Amino acid sequence: ARNTDSNGIVVIGLGRFGCHLASALVALDHEVLAIDHSPEQVQRWSNHLERVVQADATEEGALHQLGVAEFRRAVVAIGASVEASVLTVLALVELGVPQIWARATSDKHAKILDSVGAHHVIFPEAETGERVAHLIVSKMLDFVEFGDDFAIAKVRAPGTLVDRTLGEIGPAQRCGVRVVGVKLPGERFRYATDDIRLGRDSMLVIEGTIEQVQGFAALS
Ligand code: ADP
Repeated sequence: ARNTDSNGIVVIGLGRFGCHLASALVALDHEVLAIDHSPEQVQRWSNHLERVVQADATEEGALHQLGVAEFRRAVVAIGASVEASVLTVLALVELGVPQIWARATSDKHAKILDSVGAHHVIFPEAETGERVAHLIVSKMLDFVEFGDDFAIAKVRAPGTLVDRTLGEIGPAQRCGVRVVGVKLPGERFRYATDDIRLGRDSMLVIEGTIEQVQGFAALS
């Protein structure tokens, strides 16, 4: 029977994206079974990851032998070969893995992954490209967009708001954004409360529509 409490995650394809993903999952205390068909990649990552095996992930039988069917989650991180990515997702579907995450490199690729049964399709290149574009053209230090025109950003406190408390700063001066978190120099981020007085190097976490967030960032 499948161990549905298992926190193990299968990562297939240890290219540039997959290796970072696998390392991050390990840092989050998850057991990772990493699979790549290239002996060089397996060799390269065997010192960094606990379980790295060489196998062709498009082969359902090979995945089955490795115990992949016992896992609750698998990520197909293969990008360059659409064929290998799609066939791997298909093999995982056949094995009945309940949560299959797959990386798409184009809209068509995403559609195919979706139609063969991937449960979550991710676009790392597209998402990173869009995010970095926002950082380059604005003064935001970090930016996450959630769809439906909602975003959260990290920005430096605008000069015009320095020496004032959050309570004194009205919605209009905040471009309509809500200040969620504040970090004063040398301190950690904390939830925003009306009594916090902004300093010259205060950092803020703000939320609002993309336009509001961009507008506020432009003040800083
Ligand atoms: P990135 O852009 O993240 O570097 P790539 O698509 O170039 O991604 O690399 C994906 C990785 O997936 C490579 O290390 C490659 O060896 C591996 N890979 C490709 N096809 C298969 C397959 N059929 N089975 C297992 N691993 C594969």
